[in-house]
Amino acid sequence: MIKVERSDPPEVFTRNEGKWPEDWDGLKDNDKAELKKFLVEMFYGKCAYCESIIENVSYGDIEHFRPKSKYRSLTFEWTNLLLACEVCNRSNKKTYFDENIPFVNPCEDDPNEHFNFDFDRATLSAFVDGRTERGKITVKILDLNRKKLMQYRSWIVGMAIAALRNLQNDPEDQELVRIVLSCHDQARPYLAFIRKYANPL
Ligand SMILES: [Zn+2]
Repeated sequence: MIKVERSDPPEVFTRNEGKWPEDWDGLKDNDKAELKKFLVEMFYGKCAYCESIIENVSYGDIEHFRPKSKYRSLTFEWTNLLLACEVCNRSNKKTYFDENIPFVNPCEDDPNEHFNFDFDRATLSAFVDGRTERGKITVKILDLNRKKLMQYRSWIVGMAIAALRNLQNDPEDQELVRIVLSCHDQARPYLAFIRKYANPL
């Protein structure tokens, strides 16, 4: 998870002000699509929680940070909306939310205060641990070290580290410079790890 700057609300919020439908299902399809497009841009097409690229393989969800089933008044609250992958949102989080230990919110919290992002060189594994109670519950409920996610994440992070190491051995290689810099593009997955372990600066 990385910190994401929240944009101003999209036009759909001004258009619907004071006349939102009763519930989420009542929202017009084109309004939902506009909202989704805006969130995809804001999160660079990645899951707010696990930083996987969503749109390569699925559509992704408009995620209510505080579940709309429990916090009806936040159904159409811009600051309550994130973009999430289906595994984090539908399979793992579902409607879980504990007001006393809320999940870490990438738009409101600094994820680095709540998580350790680690790469184990012996096992080539990129895993995340909670540093705080909120970090711990986020990792646990969202299962942020789930097997498939960790396999793919470890491979990407390992390759980025290898590219950086090669560059350090051959600093004039412009192709390697481009590869290492491209790992840091906002749209790349698992930046929390890449920034820590494959930072060329
Ligand atoms: Zn996810």
